Amino acid sequence: MSLPGQLNIPNRLLLGPGPSDAHPRVLAAMANPLLGHLDPAYLEIMNETAAMLREAFQTKNPLTFPISATGMAGMETCLVNLLEAGDKVIICQAGFFSLRMVEVATRCGAEVTTITKPWGQVFELSEIREALQRIRPKALGIVQAETSTGSWQPIEELGKLCHEFDCLLVVDAVTALGCIPVKVDEWEIDAIYSCSQKGLSCPPGLAPVSFSPRAEATISKRKTKVQSWYLDMTLLKQYWGAERAYHHTAPISMTYALREGLKIVLEEGLENRWARHLKNHTALKAGLIALGLHYTAQDGHQLPQLNAVRIPDGVDDMATRKKLLMEFGIEVGGGLGDFKGKVWRIGLMGYNSKSSSVFTVLAALEQCLRSAGAKVTPGSGVAAAELAYQR
Ligand SMILES: *Cc1c(COP(=O)(O)O)cnc(C)c1O
Repeated sequence: MSLPGQLNIPNRLLLGPGPSDAHPRVLAAMANPLLGHLDPAYLEIMNETAAMLREAFQTKNPLTFPISATGMAGMETCLVNLLEAGDKVIICQAGFFSLRMVEVATRCGAEVTTITKPWGQVFELSEIREALQRIRPKALGIVQAETSTGSWQPIEELGKLCHEFDCLLVVDAVTALGCIPVKVDEWEIDAIYSCSQKGLSCPPGLAPVSFSPRAEATISKRKTKVQSWYLDMTLLKQYWGAERAYHHTAPISMTYALREGLKIVLEEGLENRWARHLKNHTALKAGLIALGLHYTAQDGHQLPQLNAVRIPDGVDDMATRKKLLMEFGIEVGGGLGDFKGKVWRIGLMGYNSKSSSVFTVLAALEQCLRSAGAKVTPGSGVAAAELAYQR
């Protein structure tokens, strides 16, 4: 065969729903030499990573570490460890990723009840209370940052509510961690999962998880073995805990990446990081609205890190996103499920939540919209964003 040429990665600005651009310091950390997965130097890096992860999750949970796979494996880890065949579970379903929770919980053999909201809306506490009262489930699953709709589901009071009914709270924080507040202990979350490639600005490949002591006790009381050997927390904790028993070969370079990514998060400070995401979102939102675009998520519950807007009538989804990518090097996301072809998703996550991303994507989008026939005043998006930054 004739070999391909030298690897030549085009210049991109990843402003979709993830992966978002990795921080340059993360990429540099990954270029370090490998260590063995039981080398004392690597074990120390594991400890440092888990300790910073607890800080990022705002938890003291001992059972906190990254699973060696992407965010979906985090979802699967939480559900497969907590649920046994016949267990009752409620999934709050208002988007693409909560649908996946239903799918995964069903495969665990659980008896799944869904409560639903139209895409883009969030659940009220009273609606969840009613369902808990009616079903009395073992666990309730909810997505904090629904990436398919850009909705920010409030979950501050949800843990307390679930515990009134002796129910475990499982939270999808895949697009939340590193962008908006996630307070595992204060909010009484029992199992939570995230990913490396969105708010933490690392490559895809790790899924941070954390289990409360209550969840850990539930796992230890299981009557049956966890169906998945690879994701069994009782086995994994023997590797991440004091025993250091070989389970699988850890993705060494990805651990370097996550360690650096978390260090960057904590150097900035969680509060500062959340405020930065909000500030850049406010500017982007002003610009998008000036371009005549409408958010899909209900007012007051829009995620700063994921801006989902309806594609204007008559504008071609694929052609516009292709132009953004090929002419401007910018990737934004298309719609998922019910929103396919109808919605664009613009991410400002972690390292990419900055004014240069805001101005770049607005300037490019404006030109793409105009060439697609939309009526847009030249410069209006950028001007509105600039004004928002000055306020
Ligand atoms: C991205 C995402 C996932 C899936 O994560 P992968 O890393 O793609 O496996 C799950 N839930 C939500 C809310 C997401 O945004």
